[in-house]
Amino acid sequence: MDVYSQLEARGGVSSARSLIAAGVARDDVRRALAAGAILRVRHGVYGLGRAAPVVLLAAAHGGAVACVSALALAGVWILGDHSLHVWLGPKGRKHPHDGCHCVDHHDGEHSGFGVVSVERALIQAARCMGAECFFVAFESAWRLGLVSASDRASIRSALPARLRRLVDIARPDADSGLESLLRLRLGELGIRLDCQVWIDGVGRVDFVLAGRIILEVDGRLNHDGPSLRHKDLLRDATAAAAGLETLRFDYALVVHSWPLVEAAILARLSATAPKLQEQL
Ligand SMILES: [Zn+2]
Ligand SMILES: [Zn+2]
Repeated sequence: MDVYSQLEARGGVSSARSLIAAGVARDDVRRALAAGAILRVRHGVYGLGRAAPVVLLAAAHGGAVACVSALALAGVWILGDHSLHVWLGPKGRKHPHDGCHCVDHHDGEHSGFGVVSVERALIQAARCMGAECFFVAFESAWRLGLVSASDRASIRSALPARLRRLVDIARPDADSGLESLLRLRLGELGIRLDCQVWIDGVGRVDFVLAGRIILEVDGRLNHDGPSLRHKDLLRDATAAAAGLETLRFDYALVVHSWPLVEAAILARLSATAPKLQEQL
């Protein structure tokens, strides 16, 4: 048994004990180590030099990349920044290392190295990070084709009862994490959200709230550049001429200052309601 294929089969990292139990000769481990093709992650644990750095760091800590860290590695949209989340199994012990701010997970019946499945990572994220982070990641993973119908069903049954409805209202077609987040938050206020709406004369807008307010969420850099600013003003004026109001926020406001954004949306909606009633 060669050490490389055994490490590859275990997600790039393994304990020396498992390698030897699988038939790898101790001399092969020593030779690969001397050649620099594998490295000692910590005492008794070896990794492929080409394994993802985050996989090696999780192994140094004592386990597998988990929760939001595993989801981020799979390309799933994650709300906010986070430190490394590591799955240690029910009895696994952490091994603090330089710069260690890892978040430990102890679910499951066994442990291992590498990266946990997207299904397990989503269940971990629901318990660890809360409803919004889970919902955004779940819709993103679904959109990316990373969770099958049976995965979704088993995720739902593994969630605490209060979070199961999030699986029921999730959709596979969210264009961005921001859309998922806005739909969830506005849904709780009873406000309908339409995404990527084409409006004649204005063009495609990010969102329309309750059929009457345009919501643009700006993620662009250098947005204050004069030509972009002029374009935005032109769009807003064209929309206003068509009887539509525009609210414009940036990503940080939506994510970090939601009470202010919510208050602005509710105030604008209540101010526009009478006009609609007049038209009816
Ligand atoms: Zn976590
Ligand atoms: Zn750590």
